[in-house]
Amino acid sequence: MSSTRPSPIAPTVDFDRDGVQHGFLRLPYSRDDSAWGSVMIPICVIRNGKGPAALLSGGNHGDEYEGPLALYDLARTLDPKQVSGTVIIVPAMNYPAFRAGTRTSPIDKGNMNRSFPGRPDGTVTEKIADYFQRELLPRADIVFDFHSGGKTLDFVPFCAAHTLPDKALEQKAFDAVAAFAAPFSMRMIEIDAVGMYDTAAEEMGKVFVSTELGGGGTSRAQTVRIARHGILNVLRHAGIVAGAVERGKTQWLDMPSGDCFSFAEDDGMIETMVDLGEPVEDGAVLARIHSTGRTGVAPQEIRAKMSGMLAARHFPGLVKAGDCAAVVAVHV
Ligand code: CA
Repeated sequence: MSSTRPSPIAPTVDFDRDGVQHGFLRLPYSRDDSAWGSVMIPICVIRNGKGPAALLSGGNHGDEYEGPLALYDLARTLDPKQVSGTVIIVPAMNYPAFRAGTRTSPIDKGNMNRSFPGRPDGTVTEKIADYFQRELLPRADIVFDFHSGGKTLDFVPFCAAHTLPDKALEQKAFDAVAAFAAPFSMRMIEIDAVGMYDTAAEEMGKVFVSTELGGGGTSRAQTVRIARHGILNVLRHAGIVAGAVERGKTQWLDMPSGDCFSFAEDDGMIETMVDLGEPVEDGAVLARIHSTGRTGVAPQEIRAKMSGMLAARHFPGLVKAGDCAAVVAVHV
């Protein structure tokens, strides 16, 4: 719900001041171990005069690390003399979740990317969403939100934007995706876009770009390099950081329909039959789910509903009914 009630979050940075500021979004959170305590969400503002503004975030889900690794690094190293305009960096958006190493907040179980537009009088997660919705998004021209697969999914490294009804906005987003120059670039669809930060930004007419860079609840040397290289490229492309975009080879992928997604229908032990990045034929077995309760039971087969490439897979060895088991994407 939008509201006229002010956000309880107090920033310790001034968004209109030139230079580098390292501070916090201070969110009052009274609790057993701190009566007048707060959640201190790190934020960095790097500004050099008038110009476009970029809003960069990681840790929207707390168990995804390429974004935070790239953004704490960028906040420490970006020289304001190289900047024209403003870069706002929130490396760990759902900070309580990030501290706990979990997808959702340990305080309220809030999934940040299902909490938009948030509420100023809601849960801790909803208050953070509301602050982004009403205070940070309106300041931005381009919005970049890092994701990876977290503890339960793993992806081929891609940068992504959504197909949108506003084709001019869609093109600007895909141009930024191309500038990021990940090994793969995705025209992405969502299983359910309600409550997503992506949707909030796009409905405000902002250029919104995201990633899925790996997963498994950790990061890899290659995926962190992609994140660091890519975000500087996007800032150069936006005219906010000086220098030419360092183009690399990228392969464009499409998710043409909900048939990309395959879900487990039984609990069990998952056997991946195709590895990430490998080609798949329509009807091919992507994974088998083995019943573990007794011997002698044939595994459930999960089959591709289209030809393409395996873009994502369930990560842990055990799977539950309803888990996303595999995602197939199509080469453009
Ligand atoms: Ca995510």
